[in-house]
Amino acid sequence: MIVQKFGGTSVGDVDRIRAVADHIARTRKHGNEVVAVVSAMGKTTDDLIRLANEVSHSHPGRELDMLLTSGERISMSLLSMALADLEIDATSFTGSQAGIITDTDHTRAKILEIHPSRILESIKRGSVPVVAGFQGVSTDKDVTTLGRGGSDTTAVALAAALNADLCEIYTDVSGIFSADPRVVPTAHKLNEISYDEMLELAASGGRVLALRSVEFAKNHHVTLHVRSSFTWEPGTWVREENEEMEQAVVSAVSHDTSEVKVTITGVPDMPGIAARIFREIADVGVNVDMIVQNTSREGLTDISFTVPKDDMNATMNVAAQAAKEIGARDVYADPDIARVSLVGAGMKTNPGVTAKMFETLAKEGINIEMISTSAIRISCVVREDVIERAVQLLHEAFEL
Ligand code: ASP
Ligand code: MG
Repeated sequence: MIVQKFGGTSVGDVDRIRAVADHIARTRKHGNEVVAVVSAMGKTTDDLIRLANEVSHSHPGRELDMLLTSGERISMSLLSMALADLEIDATSFTGSQAGIITDTDHTRAKILEIHPSRILESIKRGSVPVVAGFQGVSTDKDVTTLGRGGSDTTAVALAAALNADLCEIYTDVSGIFSADPRVVPTAHKLNEISYDEMLELAASGGRVLALRSVEFAKNHHVTLHVRSSFTWEPGTWVREENEEMEQAVVSAVSHDTSEVKVTITGVPDMPGIAARIFREIADVGVNVDMIVQNTSREGLTDISFTVPKDDMNATMNVAAQAAKEIGARDVYADPDIARVSLVGAGMKTNPGVTAKMFETLAKEGINIEMISTSAIRISCVVREDVIERAVQLLHEAFEL
């Protein structure tokens, strides 16, 4: 059994939808059971958000979710019709009908459990289930969405619940690359990559897979195959790290321009202060990424951290309030930053990657403003206007 997920561009127009139906037919002919998961056509979700902005300033989460889930309903029914044309019986299901139960956190709901009885029934009848991605139904019985890019999560979660053999993610690129090919034309496609590397890439700017879907795949051991619905050629396998997998010291360079840096100056250097600031930020649902705190001078220190640009206002509001309460001096945001990261499973056992990264950037006079590392990733924050140069230099220096 294969869960096949088709992203927005893969079902972007009538011809694409027909091509997807053909591909499902072909996959079945090879003796596979197929469960399809679809995103909204092309830019539909963006268009619906624009409509919401035009009609009103307030977007109650429940209503926004009701609106946004309609995009995926269009694709699921059209794809089912295209399959009917090929004499393949297909049945579309909303997230709710597919048994995807989420929490009540509208616009960024988390999947709690899946009861796929209707999907299983449909398969048993010989009918191809076509499931609307990105959505579910909450424990309060309201329609929810899983956050932008959430169809990937739907597909992986369904693959886990159905115990499918494989989850294929069809998109408009041919796989995961050693860098963004628009920035580095010589970037190459990776044949396979471990869950941990993929997690680091997805978290550091890789836009091909939603982070949550990779977490789900890792936790439930779902093998992923990311590939193109334009060429249909083999793409990148994402799976458990194994001995045969070649452990590159550095597998890829990723970059991210979607964050802002927030700095709080003159913060009293005492136990409990950082806890207080970051608790308040967490409580408004903002994910903090990199954090740097300087050594204190005369009992005062500066703390800088990065957050998504979309969360800048919410963060500044709570940070300003917290700063006042703890007697810090000042809070400001700097949007003109970007982050470049090196990711590779072999980093664990190879010293010198950090030094080489810093040397490469230093040689070109690129200043590093923040640094963070994990066992298999090194990230540097630099000025946004030199980010593409930084990516190109690192891709070259590490011979990717
Ligand atoms: N249509 C939704 C979005 O644009 C979900 C998805 O495409 O995965 O974010
Ligand atoms: Mg997507």
